[in-house]
Amino acid sequence: MTIKTVMLEDLTWPLVEKALIDGYKTVLVPVGSIEQHGYHLPLATDSLFGEALAKRLAEKMGKTLVAPVIRPGCSVHHMGFPGSLDVSPATLMSVVRDVCFSLDHHGFEYIILIPTHGGNFAPVATVTQEIAPKLKANLVAMGDLMSLIGKMQEAAVEMGIPREAVGGHACAGETSIILAYRPDLVRMKETKPGYMGPFTTMYQRKGFKAVSPTGVMGDPRPSTKEAGELMIEKITEMYLTAIKRELG
Ligand SMILES: [Zn+2]
Repeated sequence: MTIKTVMLEDLTWPLVEKALIDGYKTVLVPVGSIEQHGYHLPLATDSLFGEALAKRLAEKMGKTLVAPVIRPGCSVHHMGFPGSLDVSPATLMSVVRDVCFSLDHHGFEYIILIPTHGGNFAPVATVTQEIAPKLKANLVAMGDLMSLIGKMQEAAVEMGIPREAVGGHACAGETSIILAYRPDLVRMKETKPGYMGPFTTMYQRKGFKAVSPTGVMGDPRPSTKEAGELMIEKITEMYLTAIKRELG
């Protein structure tokens, strides 16, 4: 019996039992979304990004599994676009809570939540604070939206892509990342620029469509697979540092 994948959902229960005995003490839990990402990216973009990032982190950390991506997420501001699914913060927090208690029950010692969608950061932070004292496992939540976008911008500039193209949604950041992880799902011929002003949270009050009728913030057209690879690498390094700091 060998453990050939880091994906918990692809294993059998005897393999999970073996992993736990073999010292797999850490489990990563991506928290994604199913929401519009412009004319060219799939609704699952944030979930795929979470999966790509968690897989890379798990490979670097060793003896680490990746739990199923929790989705849908809190996407109320994207409901103006067909196909977007929204759950309330209370629902998302309940699911995160129950998944963490399940993983804790099975004996994982470190549970690391990885939100990859803007609307999930606040509820994930809230539920982390609430349940961390009740778990035997150590629970932490990674990152914030602005540091994620910052790392994407840093990588973009290094690869010759203008910083403004990484506007934060279905932009040259997310598009490059999906080109690196699931190029089969990117429709590059359909890319259209979106809102190009400074990052704004106005969409939280008025809905995303009011800010960007294309559903894009930034410009996906200069995206490349190579830039996406560098983005995943830089975000992974940032999270590895944070995980070491939080969990020793
Ligand atoms: Zn996204």
